[in-house]
Amino acid sequence: MLTLVCCIAGLSPVCGQQPVAFNPLESFKQVMYPAGNALRTVNGKPGSQYWQNRADYQISADFDTLSRQLKATQEVSYFNNSPDALSELWFLLGQNRFRKDSRTTMLTPLNGSRFGIMEFTDGFVLEKVMIKNNKDGTWSKVDYKIMNDQLKVILPEDLNTKAKLSIRIDYHFILPKNGSDFMGVLPTVNGTIYQFASWFPRILVYDDIEGWNTSNSGYYIEPGKLKYKITVPSECIVQGTGQLLNPEQVLTKIQLERLHAAKKSDQTVQIRTAKEAGMSSSRPGPGRLTWHFSADNAGDGLFVVSKSFIWDAVKVDMPNKEVVMAMSLYPVESNYDTWKQSAQTMKKVLESYSKLWSPYPFETSVNVAGPVTGIGGPGVSFIHYKSDGMANGVWSKINHELGHSWFNMMIAGNGRQAWMVEGLNSFINHVNGEVLEGETAFLMADAVDWLGKAKPGQSVATPYELMIDKNFALLAYMKPAVALNLLRTQVLGKKRFDDAFRTFVQAWKFKHPVPADFFRCMEKETGENLSWFWQSWFLNDWSLDQSIENVKYVNEQPEKGIDIKLVNKGKMVMPLVLEIIEFNGQVNRVSLPAEVWQKGTEWTFHYPSTTAVISVKLDPDRALPDTDLGNNIWRGNASQKKVPAGMTAQTVLDRYFAAIGGKALVLKLKSAVLKYTRGEGKMLYTLEQTASFPDQYSFILDFAPLAQPLQKYTVNGENVNYQKFGAPEELNAKQSLQVKLMCRLFPELEMNTGKHQLRLADSTRNLSGTDVYVLFANENHAAGRAYYYDVKTGLKVKEEDLMHLDPDLPYTSMEMAEYKLLDGLMLPYTLIFKRAGENETLLKGKEFKLTMN
Ligand SMILES: [Zn+2]
Repeated sequence: MLTLVCCIAGLSPVCGQQPVAFNPLESFKQVMYPAGNALRTVNGKPGSQYWQNRADYQISADFDTLSRQLKATQEVSYFNNSPDALSELWFLLGQNRFRKDSRTTMLTPLNGSRFGIMEFTDGFVLEKVMIKNNKDGTWSKVDYKIMNDQLKVILPEDLNTKAKLSIRIDYHFILPKNGSDFMGVLPTVNGTIYQFASWFPRILVYDDIEGWNTSNSGYYIEPGKLKYKITVPSECIVQGTGQLLNPEQVLTKIQLERLHAAKKSDQTVQIRTAKEAGMSSSRPGPGRLTWHFSADNAGDGLFVVSKSFIWDAVKVDMPNKEVVMAMSLYPVESNYDTWKQSAQTMKKVLESYSKLWSPYPFETSVNVAGPVTGIGGPGVSFIHYKSDGMANGVWSKINHELGHSWFNMMIAGNGRQAWMVEGLNSFINHVNGEVLEGETAFLMADAVDWLGKAKPGQSVATPYELMIDKNFALLAYMKPAVALNLLRTQVLGKKRFDDAFRTFVQAWKFKHPVPADFFRCMEKETGENLSWFWQSWFLNDWSLDQSIENVKYVNEQPEKGIDIKLVNKGKMVMPLVLEIIEFNGQVNRVSLPAEVWQKGTEWTFHYPSTTAVISVKLDPDRALPDTDLGNNIWRGNASQKKVPAGMTAQTVLDRYFAAIGGKALVLKLKSAVLKYTRGEGKMLYTLEQTASFPDQYSFILDFAPLAQPLQKYTVNGENVNYQKFGAPEELNAKQSLQVKLMCRLFPELEMNTGKHQLRLADSTRNLSGTDVYVLFANENHAAGRAYYYDVKTGLKVKEEDLMHLDPDLPYTSMEMAEYKLLDGLMLPYTLIFKRAGENETLLKGKEFKLTMN
């Protein structure tokens, strides 16, 4: 049916044939930005007429811990800076999502979802909605309508441009225990933790793009002043967005002293210790206390109430010599050894972001352990109380959630383009990881893996509400972060990128940029047309496959240089780096801009070699997400040399045994356990090879998130077993033999037993600059394998399956490198697995154990 449609309508260039994927007119198509104007300039900055409205809040709330009811009065002063007269005001009623009849409830899948509704309340119950008479200061009722989770206040007369009005709303609601991972309730041994988000009717953004942003408005805030008071039982501690204005009224004398000390201290000061957390003497009492907070440029707020907290604080130095406070609150149920470091981690993270991009915009930063997995609001983050360890737990979560104070609390973009919130934040998280921990942002092999998992048809720019769940993490967080990282390191260079990015941050501080503003600002500041980059990474679902088509000597004379022909096979384009190794030992690199692809799918360039060329390699550092590495390398004939006379298969084996410590020592081996890993934490990938000589072996691949080993092969004499995810799988005779050969630790021990037919290739080969002898082995005339031994050292550098390997086996070739001595034996500490058409998997030796007879 589809073919028919395509033939008749002629939609495809050549029906029935694969169309050429790459088309320069498509990949370099100019991104059409809206015309620049006095609001948003052609340079991607706010113009002279830029405006945004402003809402300042004053809220007084009383929280009853027993009923979980928050009862509040809120007064909003709203300033209309728009050129339009407004006949209504719109508020977001975040709590209404918990109503049984809400749209979010109806959109929650049967088996639930992280942000779905799992528990019903009555939402916000509005007691009074009133408007202030600007002339006499009296309050009178005003008409309003509630639509799903939005409140439309119908003004008695238009609010003119440059005019201001005040609306008062009295309301109450019950805090849901399970608050769709934004808020919630957690009982602990020293008291319950109540985490509040979406706790007041929040004004929606009225902007020059959409007017009132009434759709998917949860992640779009209007920075303004937030002043609030929370009254709770005196034994509770309250912390939230903004500065605590009345510490002397709500803290004990000793806590007050400690708080003052923390303001001057680079060491963490405990305002309340673990021991004190359970003691009523550590709180002023009895009765109820009111906590006052105030924050500028907040526009939203989070707070928390609990008796249970341990409370740490430390000073944070800003580049402008100012000082802010980092505070961490957690219950005794959190891992103390990890969480006692969290205030220092916050300090480090805040100081780094401040130095890199712009000073932290609030007076305090509060991190709270509780039931919520992880959210970042203005000056407050909620992190799951069981988050643990530094690799994937508290460190990376603090790094991420605190980053939200920049994106999108400071750079208040519309979260409907989720990348402007999560993607820009994930990007600065990566840079911080590199600056603070020396972490590589990510391995390109992993990035290719992630990107490949995104369901096609959706791009980074797909609006949030349309993104399928599976794509959300990939397209809103990872892909834009990978993209900006590459823009920074591979396209523009760090300094140039950072200057432009900083300019964008400065220009849009507490304002509302749109994607075009970001794209334009990055282009104008660097003087580049980056349409191809936005097309490749943000606006489409394309992948990268740049390749070396062929390499030719000019007039077939190496000394006249070579012409290298490149072909672009994917729609994505990126700059190119090539590494050329010559016979004379020279290794040189050539960089080409992405623009070589502007005119066509092929590009040929000249390289002035003076001797024969051993190899040309594209993307030698594996810095780009190229999906087919197989066509990234070209090897010349110069890499082959005749094997010297007298050298035989047996000599190669003898040299190998001598190099690793002697055959006698290998024969003394009773058992061996070799453990290799890559990644860590949740991404930990392990290979465990065991041997109980002479004929029992296992080869187990494990991936941390899985309960059962990914793949487990065991060999016991002639018996071969295979389990996948813990379930046994059938193997045919050929597969069994392949598994057997793969599992052996020292196949050389059997290579001269007569079972093998050995043949030494008559010339050497060159593997990435190393000359090797190649030994072909056929066992039972069935499964052919090749073994490669370093001509210089005698060590084995590679093993390869020459038959069509069963698709389930983990590699077609395995490279060994970085030999180290253990108990007199040389063992490879680096393994690189490779399967045809797939990416390399690099494993590092972690734990080796040998037992000798
Ligand atoms: Zn986030």
